[in-house]
Amino acid sequence: MKPCPFCARIAAGDVVAENDLAAAFPDGFPVSPGHTLIVPKRHEADFFALSVEEQEAIHVLTRIEKERLAGEYGPSAFNVGVNVGADAGQTVGHAHMHLIPRYPGDVEDPRGGIRWIIPDKAVYWQGD
Ligand code: 5GP
Ligand code: ZN
Repeated sequence: MKPCPFCARIAAGDVVAENDLAAAFPDGFPVSPGHTLIVPKRHEADFFALSVEEQEAIHVLTRIEKERLAGEYGPSAFNVGVNVGADAGQTVGHAHMHLIPRYPGDVEDPRGGIRWIIPDKAVYWQGD
């Protein structure tokens, strides 16, 4: 089995922020400048199998990282989300929250945001 890249990173202490149960580090293939992942320290693929305490630790770090990214990169907006399971697009089997800074004009029309996981259904405002 391939070693988990997120566990390796946590074991190496290669993180930008951490608390008792969670850690944050840059996404290795960022979709925007500052794209950050917040993960439980315990290896578990399923976000919903995490304890409430682990989920809370992730949310606390997400708030802290949002402030850091706002200061460092000056984004105008954020997308926040978790892919839970292969059919939802999860590709790394260690649960993680994506924190994605967004910038004016980074895509032509940002409306819908995460609705674009199902492209055919994303647009509901046709005619507006
Ligand atoms: P998923 O598709 O599972 O929601 O997201 C996995 C994320 O992990 C992707 O955004 C991808 O760029 C990132 N990623 C994949 N491998 C590595 C890695 O080895 N190191 C880091 N820092 N990020 C990775
Ligand atoms: Zn892991």
